[in-house]
Amino acid sequence: MMTPNYIIVNQDGKRFCNEAGVDFHGFIYAVNQLDGVKHRYPAIPCYIVMDEAGRLAGRPTHFKYGYAAGIEGYHWSADSSAEIKSGIVKKADTLEELAKMIKAPAENLKAQVARWNKDIKAGADTEFGRKIKKTGKSAFAGTDVPTLFAPLSEKGPYYAIECYPALLNTQGGPKRDAKACVMDVYNRPIPHLFAAGELGSIWGSIYQGSSNVCEALVYGQIAGASAAAEKPL
Ligand SMILES: Cc1cc2nc3c(=O)[nH]c(=O)nc-3n(C[C@H](O)[C@H](O)[C@H](O)COP(=O)(O)OP(=O)(O)OC[C@H]3O[C@@H](n4cnc5c(N)ncnc54)[C@H](O)[C@@H]3O)c2cc1C
Repeated sequence: MMTPNYIIVNQDGKRFCNEAGVDFHGFIYAVNQLDGVKHRYPAIPCYIVMDEAGRLAGRPTHFKYGYAAGIEGYHWSADSSAEIKSGIVKKADTLEELAKMIKAPAENLKAQVARWNKDIKAGADTEFGRKIKKTGKSAFAGTDVPTLFAPLSEKGPYYAIECYPALLNTQGGPKRDAKACVMDVYNRPIPHLFAAGELGSIWGSIYQGSSNVCEALVYGQIAGASAAAEKPL
């Protein structure tokens, strides 16, 4: 987000993470919370909620990245006016109205905004420890993503953007050993079966920026050498 005037809430109208503290490669870890009782993922989708100052502060997204920008050539308008028109950004005069639009309990959303504003004024995010002082440059691409200074406005309009996690990488797949041999469920190498690259990636537990291509090259060579060294069954 390019503005401090926002929070991200789940379908219950509640914050669920430090919105400014999650690297975008790893946002799935923040939203991937299963509500085992109701069998649902309350943060998929989740909602960016911002006020008028937030909207006018700039695009709510890194507009040069992602499938829509990079592949489809879509460019988010500077003040989100085009997206309000198209309905991607929902606009409401009050928090009650906005809650209705995102189908969240209005009392929760109002209580969340009130708590957030109280926290900012008191100087600490007591829920998730989001930094509330301006920290300058963000680690991402040198952009100056402001941390928050301002509480959300007491007056509308307010805006909400529905968000879903998008897959950049899958990383899952069969486990392999140091010779790139695929392991069976008992952790024994399966003869003549090798894997490399993102399938069964060694970075399965967490995305390591830029390490995938390197892994594909390294494991591709290992798998090729291992396969060439195999004797026919
Ligand atoms: C937007 C984006 C940005 C990325 N940025 C980076 C980055 O900066 N640095 C980095 O290291 N990594 C990056 N990655 C990840 C990296 O590109 C991938 O991890 C890597 O390309 C995976 O290589 P691979 O050979 O394992 O798989 P793939 O490149 O997915 O190759 C699999 C191939 O198998 C083919 N295939 C599928 N099914 C079949 C079938 N049944 N029969 C025959 N062929 C089949 C597919 O068509 C495909 O050509 C990025 C990925 C994305 C999507």
